[in-house]
Amino acid sequence: MANDTPLFQSIISHAKEYGFIFPSSEIYDGLQAVYDYGQMGSELKKNIKDHWWKSMTQLRDDVVGIDAAIFMHPTTWKASGHVDNFNDPMIDNRDSKKRYRVDHLIEAHAEALMAAGQKEQAAALVTSMEGLLAADDFVGLKKLIEDHQIKCAVSDTCHWTDIRQFNLMFATEFGATSGEEDNKVYLRPETAQGIFVNFLNVQKTGRMKVPFGIAQVGKAFRNEIVARQFVFRMREFEQMEMQFFVRPGTQKQWYEYWKQCRLQWHLDLGLPADKYRYHDHVKLAHYADAACDIEFDFPIGFKELEGIHSRTDFDLRQHQEYSKKKQQYFDNEIDPSTGKPFGNYIPYVVETSIGLDRMFLAVLSHAYEEQDLSTDEKQDSRVVLKFPAALAPIKLAVLPLNKKDGLPEIAQEIIAQCKDDFRCFYEEKDSIGKRYRRMDALGTPFCITVDYQSKEDRTVTIRYRDSMQQERISIDSIKDLIKKAL
Ligand code: ATP
Repeated sequence: MANDTPLFQSIISHAKEYGFIFPSSEIYDGLQAVYDYGQMGSELKKNIKDHWWKSMTQLRDDVVGIDAAIFMHPTTWKASGHVDNFNDPMIDNRDSKKRYRVDHLIEAHAEALMAAGQKEQAAALVTSMEGLLAADDFVGLKKLIEDHQIKCAVSDTCHWTDIRQFNLMFATEFGATSGEEDNKVYLRPETAQGIFVNFLNVQKTGRMKVPFGIAQVGKAFRNEIVARQFVFRMREFEQMEMQFFVRPGTQKQWYEYWKQCRLQWHLDLGLPADKYRYHDHVKLAHYADAACDIEFDFPIGFKELEGIHSRTDFDLRQHQEYSKKKQQYFDNEIDPSTGKPFGNYIPYVVETSIGLDRMFLAVLSHAYEEQDLSTDEKQDSRVVLKFPAALAPIKLAVLPLNKKDGLPEIAQEIIAQCKDDFRCFYEEKDSIGKRYRRMDALGTPFCITVDYQSKEDRTVTIRYRDSMQQERISIDSIKDLIKKAL
C-alpha cells in the first residue's frame, strides 16, 4: 500500500512539528495506531465536528442529537451481529510473520498492476476477489493470492498461512471480579448501536415523527490488524453518525437523498469534486440492502471517507428480539392506497457514517501545499495549509511590528475586541516574515500587523494567507471583516 509516499510522510511530519497530531504516549515509543491531537489538531478536529453537528442537527428540523455511553449492555453486540460477524479475513506470511487483511493485500496488488498499465488484469482480480469475499470462500481467496503470486512486502515470499477471521472488538471487564464471561463488556466498535437502543426514548420524549434522524459524535474502538496509515486507520477513533428512520418502502429514495446530500456537504466546504467519488458496494454487509462509500483522494489514493448504508429494519428488529421490547412506531398518517393510517411498523434506517479522523486527514492533506516562491533575486518557499477559514484552528494572528512603543498594547486591544467571536493568536517574537510563514504553516487565514502608523491613524495591515496580498484597514473594521469571511 502506498502509505509511505513522500507527500504523505511530509504531511505526517508537518502535523507533528506544528502541534496537530502526536503519536500516543510518544515518550514510551508510542502505541501503534493510536494518536493524540495537539493544540492545533484538537482545534481543527473540534471545528470539523461542530460544523458537522450544526449542519446535521441545528440547521435541520428532522434530526436531533444524542450522546450515548461507550459501554453498552453486552447483549447489544450479540443483537447487532458484531459478536458473530465483525471479523475480517486475515492471512499471515509464514516467513515474515506479518499479518494482512486479505482484501487489502489483493487490492494493493491490483493497484500495482494498474500502475504498471495492466488495467484489465487489475479489474479482473478485484472482481474475482469481490465474488469470493461475497461467498466467504476462503479457500478460493487463498488460491487467488497464490495464483497471482502475491508476495509479502517484507519477506518478498508467497509463503502464506490459511485465511482466518479475527474479531475486531476490544473487550474489557466490568465490576470487581475478573475473568468471568458474565462481566465482559466491549468498547463500542461503532456509535450507531447507541442510537438504535435509544430510538424509542428519543422518538417518544422528542415527539418525533418518522421520517426523522438521530445524530451522534463519539469514540469507537476496533482492534484493527493492519493499522499503519496514520489517522486513516486507528484503533481508537471518532465517528460522526446519523441514523435516519423511515417508513418501510421509502428507504431507496432516502438512501439516494442522503448519498447526494452528504457529498454536497463535503463540496460546500470548498473541497474539490474531483477529489471525491462514490464506490457502490457489491458485497453488502449482513444488515444492508444498499450501500456505498464516499471515497476521497487521500495521499494514499482514493479510500473510504464516509459510508451511506440502507440498513433495513435489521438493527431495530434484532434489538426487539433480544430485548423482548417492541421497537415499533405508530404512523398515524393516512395511507392513500387504503385510506387508513399506515399504523404500526419497525422503521427502516438509512445511515450516514463518517470518520472524524479521516475527515481531518482529508482536510489536512488537501490543505497542505509546498510552494516555491523563488524570484530571480532570491530563493524562497513556504508550506501553507489552505484550510477553509471556518475550519482553521486560528482565524486571526495579531502581530505587533515591535515589542515596544505601545504596539503590543494596540495588538492586545484588537485581540480583546475579537476573541469572543473567533480564535485569535498573539505573537511578538521573530521578524514579521518569519511570523507570517509560521502562520501559513498553521493555516491561519488572516494576519494583522500593528505598526507605527497604527498609532497615528488606527489602521493596520491585513495579510491574506492564500494570496499573500496585504492591505490597510481600520482597526474598527477587523472583526466584521473576519466574521464575514467565516
Ligand atoms: P474500512 O473498510 O476502511 O475498514 P469500514 O467500512 O469498516 O472501513 P465503517 O464500519 O463503514 O468502516 O465505519 C464508518 C466510518 O468510520 C468509515 O467510513 C471511516 O471513515 C470510519 N472508520 C472506520 N474504521 C476506522 C478506523 N479504524 N480508523 C479511523 N476511522 C475509521
